Amino acid sequence: MFVSESPEDPADPAVVAGSERALRLLAESIPIASVSASGERLEEGAQHFAKVLADAGLSTQVWPSAGAPVVFAEKPAPAGRPTLLFYGHYDVQPPDPLDAWETPPFEAAIRDGALFGRGAGDNKGQLLAHVGAVAELLARDDLGVGVKFLIEGEEEIGSPHIAAVARTHRHELKADLALTADAPVHDDGRPVIIFGVRGLLYLEVSLAGAPRDLHSGNRGGIAPTPAWTLVHALAGLRDAAGRVTVPGFYDPVRGPDASERAMIEALPVDPAHLEAELGPIATTWAPQPSWQESPWTALGFQPNCNIAGLTSGYQGPGTKTVIPSLATAKIDFRLVADQDPDTVFAAVRAQLEQSAPGIQVRRTAAVPPSATSPSTPLAAPVIEAVRAATGVEPLLRPRLGGTTPDFIFTGILGIPSILVPYGPPDMNHHAPNEKMTLAALRRGVACTVAICRRLAQEASVG
Ligand SMILES: [Zn+2]
Repeated sequence: MFVSESPEDPADPAVVAGSERALRLLAESIPIASVSASGERLEEGAQHFAKVLADAGLSTQVWPSAGAPVVFAEKPAPAGRPTLLFYGHYDVQPPDPLDAWETPPFEAAIRDGALFGRGAGDNKGQLLAHVGAVAELLARDDLGVGVKFLIEGEEEIGSPHIAAVARTHRHELKADLALTADAPVHDDGRPVIIFGVRGLLYLEVSLAGAPRDLHSGNRGGIAPTPAWTLVHALAGLRDAAGRVTVPGFYDPVRGPDASERAMIEALPVDPAHLEAELGPIATTWAPQPSWQESPWTALGFQPNCNIAGLTSGYQGPGTKTVIPSLATAKIDFRLVADQDPDTVFAAVRAQLEQSAPGIQVRRTAAVPPSATSPSTPLAAPVIEAVRAATGVEPLLRPRLGGTTPDFIFTGILGIPSILVPYGPPDMNHHAPNEKMTLAALRRGVACTVAICRRLAQEASVG
């Protein structure tokens, strides 16, 4: 069923059987519509993945949290060998819009060399590539490392409870290296290895004026204008060049070190691809000084302040002369090492309250950034394993521009953490017709097998 493409050993029985197992498990898991946004079938999702891991030969527990349950499974390491902690999530995004799906989102459908269904790539398929590989190595008595799995059910809503779970179970989660597969590979299909993520601070702000909307003629000039006040307050957060103007905001920010800079220099920049997505680079690129070095520097080592939503007053057709009584905005900050979301929140709130007295500032998400040094001892063997399993030199990215709860490993547990995604570039995650190609699933299994075997030659560093 799979195209043989593992250059190391195309007929490696662990990869062949692991891929078949991963595909079967993926098809079985798609119908469990574990949608964290609506909270449906999360308990069932946890129990299902606990059974999958128990069937694979791991000792398994389901840990309660203040939200969705968390699945933990482990197989201890042979003496002196490292332990890998695989992170993934069993929850999925809502399937809307339903009529854009070619086959129902919660029925696994195989066509055109891919398995389609909500969660096929994000994250069930990539997670099950890990599981399939580990299960087959274990069945062949060829798993020379310890493995642990940490699988949560709230990743798609910002992982609000995984930090508390990690603190509670700090001892059980001890490992030498955390590995996550939850993103697409590089746009051109090359494998990519990522050493950290930006953090996220999400705020909802609202400012009220008069008790109700007022006539802009009869009351214009004497009534409070929350829309104007909010616009001025927001303008005070960022200058025209895109630099955040909150006091102290950049103090903890550290740029790339020498090895990270070398990685950035080796990363391809595709202006045509960027222009297709962003518009002419001459206008979008210029205001951000860090872009002039590389977009990878800007995306990995510069924080950003974005207005995600801005609402006030009349938005319908024609004219309505009204002074709106309420103005609201949604703001997201992407944070970089070593910024702390709590500190940033306090500074931003203080500034907003000063510029717009009476403003309500609500924090709806706060995820710290995360960084692992590329010189961490187990990074080189992982890179070697991915190179051997794919036959391609992997791209090395110091940071993901987006956010995952990677800080639970680097921050709470003190474990280096590496992201090795296997999703195809067009996997349609969070969108209709989400898919995992069979080739990508097999590549995930082949890489996991290679990583386990390569790390079995290393000593535990933890
Ligand atoms: Zn996702």
